[in-house]
Amino acid sequence: MGRHQAVRTPVFNGPAGWSVILPPVAPRARLDGSTGCDVAIVGGGFAGLSAARRLHQIDPGLDVAILDAARISEGGTGRNSGFMIDLPHELTSSDYAGSGDSHDRQLTRLNRHAIDFAAQAVAEYGIPEGWFQRSGKINAAASEAGLAANESYARHLHDLGEAHELLDARAMHEITGTGYYRGGLYTPGTAMIQPAGYVQGLAAGLERGGVRIYENSPVLTIETAPQGWRLATAQGALLAQRVIMANNGHLESFGFKRGRLMHIMLNACMTEELSPEAIRALGGQECWGATPSDPMGTTVRRIGPAQGGNRIVIRQGGYYRPDMQTSAADLARLVDHMRQKFDARFPMLKGLRFAYCWSGHLCLSKNGVSVMRELEPGLFAACVDNGLGTTRSTLTGIGAAEMLCGRSSMITEFFTAEAEPGRLPPHPFDTIGANAYMRWKEWQSRLE
Ligand SMILES: Cc1cc2nc3c(=O)[nH]c(=O)nc-3n(C[C@H](O)[C@H](O)[C@H](O)COP(=O)(O)OP(=O)(O)OC[C@H]3O[C@@H](n4cnc5c(N)ncnc54)[C@H](O)[C@@H]3O)c2cc1C
Repeated sequence: MGRHQAVRTPVFNGPAGWSVILPPVAPRARLDGSTGCDVAIVGGGFAGLSAARRLHQIDPGLDVAILDAARISEGGTGRNSGFMIDLPHELTSSDYAGSGDSHDRQLTRLNRHAIDFAAQAVAEYGIPEGWFQRSGKINAAASEAGLAANESYARHLHDLGEAHELLDARAMHEITGTGYYRGGLYTPGTAMIQPAGYVQGLAAGLERGGVRIYENSPVLTIETAPQGWRLATAQGALLAQRVIMANNGHLESFGFKRGRLMHIMLNACMTEELSPEAIRALGGQECWGATPSDPMGTTVRRIGPAQGGNRIVIRQGGYYRPDMQTSAADLARLVDHMRQKFDARFPMLKGLRFAYCWSGHLCLSKNGVSVMRELEPGLFAACVDNGLGTTRSTLTGIGAAEMLCGRSSMITEFFTAEAEPGRLPPHPFDTIGANAYMRWKEWQSRLE
């Protein structure tokens, strides 16, 4: 209790491609000098922006300020593949099924609440339709094992009473243009977002409602002050009655949940714009999104002009890095790997350049729980995305705001009932064990 100092602040490797392909947004001011607010939010990703929106909905009179270490949409929130998934999506399973029908029904209800919350923001703030589309997604299968995983997941969805459609190789070819996939499992409830566009739209809407956002303002210390908390950056200080930490894995950088959070780096590449000839050679539909039938496989997404150009986005390969950073060598190795995956799927696009390659950080706990609770009086957390922050961090943000305002809801009840994140083996055994496990799982899912 008292003083929490950041031992590290975020470092990003590679441009967040989703931002670069949109018209530039003027930088926001950084925090300079001393100022005050009712609620300070550390982190302007899905969690922080959703918390601000929910606070504003509950009490429009609250003076809310957000501090982000970087630009809005430069962090993890602008680096993901943009699948806002409604259904169970258990990354540690072999087919995404969760830990039981009743838990999965509850998660689905919560995820849909997050998607509806985002859809309302899109309507209210005039966010372009192409940046948030409820178009569904496909679990794509390229091997016998992949087809079996899809069938097993389809049985689970049938038991849950959820709509789904198994697709054969021909249907997959018609959608994606590639003959690589042998089958697919379409589910209609996923919203496909242009992550940078969506969060920039959310941030702009919040600002019009009076929320202040400071960019390039990493918080270095958080300490108790006479009327609440004092947050210090290199150039300024923010005095706040209450604080929401919405900085995902960097919660640990302030000393919270030490030895309990797993920091995973994921990588993605986005192609240059497809020429009209390349579009003809590829065929298929203009927009589609395919997660791999095996959670450790390769995610592929095709986007169109409404998202920032006719391009393909590919994501593959995760590794455990307690320092939350990707080295240039890590990224180069993964880009080579993604090139191979891309060429195997799209031989008709051989030579198409990757225009942007980047890595991003996500934060898991061993037992799949988030940290959404009051850590100390007046200091709340909306952290630990478990790899699915488009929905999960939207939910923890909403929940933290509700809790701060003394409200209880299905979201606050769900997260406050969760256990503590499980303790990890000590360094370096955690890193060696996690990386060896991930390499093995990736090898097993190499065709997917
Ligand atoms: C390649 C890739 C693909 C992914 N694909 C998907 C997907 O398709 N669907 C999905 O649901 N999830 C996906 N994810 C995960 C998703 O990006 C994260 O779950 C999500 O970004 C978490 O949101 P958040 O708001 O909790 O945290 P973040 O997005 O990490 O935001 C936290 C913010 O806190 C800021 N911050 C940190 N420390 C400080 C500090 N000291 N002071 C001020 N600010 C600070 C950071 O700058 C950052 O902006 C993917 C991730 C990657 C990397």
